[in-house]
Order: sequence, then structure tokens, then C-alpha cells
Amino acid sequence: MKLPMSVDRSVIAPGATIGIIGGGQLGRMTAMAAARLGYRSHIFCPEEDCPASQVAPTTTAAYEDQAALTKFAGQVDVVTFEFENIPAESVRILSQTAMVRPNWHVLETAQDRVLEKSFFNSIDVATANWRPVRDLPDLVRAVGDLGRPSILKTARFGYDGKGQVRIDTATALEEAWAEMRGAPAIFESFVDFEREVSVIVARGPDGKALCFDVVENRHRHHILHQTIAPATISAAQASQAEAIAVQAAEKLDLIGLLAVELFVTRDGRLLVNEMAPRPHNSGHWTIDACSTSQFEQFVRAVCGLPLGNTTRHSDAVMTNLIGDDVNQWSDALRQPQTCLHLYGKTEARPGRKMGHVTRLFPFGRNGQSKN
Ligand code: AMP
Repeated sequence: MKLPMSVDRSVIAPGATIGIIGGGQLGRMTAMAAARLGYRSHIFCPEEDCPASQVAPTTTAAYEDQAALTKFAGQVDVVTFEFENIPAESVRILSQTAMVRPNWHVLETAQDRVLEKSFFNSIDVATANWRPVRDLPDLVRAVGDLGRPSILKTARFGYDGKGQVRIDTATALEEAWAEMRGAPAIFESFVDFEREVSVIVARGPDGKALCFDVVENRHRHHILHQTIAPATISAAQASQAEAIAVQAAEKLDLIGLLAVELFVTRDGRLLVNEMAPRPHNSGHWTIDACSTSQFEQFVRAVCGLPLGNTTRHSDAVMTNLIGDDVNQWSDALRQPQTCLHLYGKTEARPGRKMGHVTRLFPFGRNGQSKN
């Protein structure tokens, strides 16, 4: 039985079905949070037995399968996504018949590092210096303009450091360009950062926006290893990071969540690295350390419900369980103040995110000295 819909059509009341494109752990944890608020979820994912399919009914079909997508859209009350490497064109077509939140244009911007950096610069938000690169002469010009060290990244479909080459004094540009395999790329000055931080903002259809605390992210082999909440940065830097996230969400007219990753430079400036219009690995700590988790907040924003309180009641250190780290699950269960989250993936391949643990600390003591 569906609860009566509000007269305000931007509100999708509990009882409705949320369609989630993408079936990884982010979809799984979103569906779990949605269920707590009385929603059903329906997943769309190309892989059989994906993590989200273990907790919600799933359509298994390719992201390019327009007929399957249209049928899926007819079975749900709102469509969102937990993964951004889905064809923006599929989502654009879908949005002609279904309510899609956030809008497909946000997806298009976040999918392409050139569009993404152009967007931030257009709203006066600083990034590393960059140049678009479409061929070897572009790369030679970019190196002439911005120098070395620097990084060449594929403009699209890169994640966890894939599709990136560092360009040092000795790097041959022909070889660096060959690694892009002809794909459009972006050349960025190397930022000698002090730390990497991120902030997640939720924005509802009424334009109200709320951030979670800014956190620090530490990577190993280009994959997020730990998130430390809160980040040890100044209050002014934290407010500036939040203001950037809110401004970006407003300019994109985003409904849902936006995660913004930033570098803090050694001279204290904030430079945006990238954004993701969905729940983010650096927000997993909120499940155990905040009154409202990023996943519940995502559901609230997408459904037009009042946003929840984002106050942090504990400090936290979230550690990803990558590949064989998952074998530590029983140790994690024995540790006090430690919350274990496993994603139901059967094969622990190297580099694969299998789960995470969040260790809680009394408010104001995030265990920095112990890590
Ligand atoms: P990305 O895929 O852009 O998130 O990059 C993955 C990681 O590579 C980042 O989290 C940084 O640690 C590093 N990185 C990316 N771009 C730069 C840059 N311009 N300068 C220094 N480090 C970078």
C-alpha cells in the first residue's frame, strides 16, 4: 500500500519505489537506508549477483539497453544513480519520461574531467592548472605552458588512479600520450598537497542544502584507504570547502548528493580535484558517526523529504577492506567501537572494495595520534 502522495509533486512519499542505476555497494547501502524509511528500491545493473541485488529486486541489463531502461523507469517513482560511468545519453532519454534526480546534465559534467574543471573554474572555484589534450602536439604545448611534474589523465572513465600517467622530468611524452590510447585527456599541474579532503553536500528540490563535516582522505595505490572524520584543517578552510560544495550543487541545480574532493596545498589553499553526484566512499563513516547517514540523506534529498541532521556525534576513522583485507572481518567484530560493513562480494580480487570498518572515537578525539 502506498501512503498518500503529497500534493507537492516534488515529494515522493514513503511506500514509493526508488530506481537506482548501478548495483555496487553504494546502491546496496542506499537501498538499505531507503528500506528503513519505508521505501522500496529497484536496481538496474548489468552484472548478475551485484551487491545491491542481494537486498533489492534487480533488472539485469546493459546501461545502453534503452528498452530495458524504459521498462525499469515505468516500474519506479523516481530514478537516481550510484555510479557515474553510465551513458549520460541513456539518462537523458530516460528523463523525458521519468523523474531523474540528480538531472542528467550533472552526470554529463561529472563524467568528463574537462567539463568538470571548466565548470568549477566558471564559478570561480580554483583547481590545479590544466589543459585539454586531444593529441600529442596538444600535450607538448601543455607541458610547455605548465611544466613538470604533472599528470595526464583520461578525461572520461577513469577511477582509482586508472588512466593516469605522471609526467616527470624523464617521462617521454610520446609514451605518456600512448597510454591514453587515443582517448581525450586532461593535463594537470602536479599539486604538492599537504592533505586531501572531501565534503558531501545534500540538496533537496526546495534548494535547501546541508553538508557533512569535511573529512581527510588517505590513499594507498591510488585507492582510498582511510577517511578521518573530521579533517584536521582550520575552521576557515572547512567553511570554505563547504561553501564550494554548496555553490556547486546550486549552480548544477542538483537534487541529491554531491561529493567534492579537494587538495589542501602547503600554503593553505583549497583546489578542487573532482566531484561525484552520488554517495561517496569518503562518506561511509556517517553511517555510524552521524544522526543521519549519507545514504539516508541521499534518499531524503532525492525524495524531497526534509533533510536530516548531519551532526557528527562521534569522531571516526573509516578503513576500506580491499581485496584480501576482507579476511580481517572476524578481528573487526572483536574490536570495541568498531562497526563492520561487508558488501556481499564473493571474489576478493586485488584492488576490489569488499567492505569497510568504521572505528568510533569520543567526539573531538579522532584517533589521529593512534594511526
Ligand atoms: P583522481 O582520479 O583525479 O581522483 O586522482 C587519484 C589520486 O591521484 C588523487 O586522490 C591524488 O592523490 C592524486 N592526484 C590526482 N590529480 C593530482 C594532481 N593534479 N596533483 C597531485 N596529485 C594528484
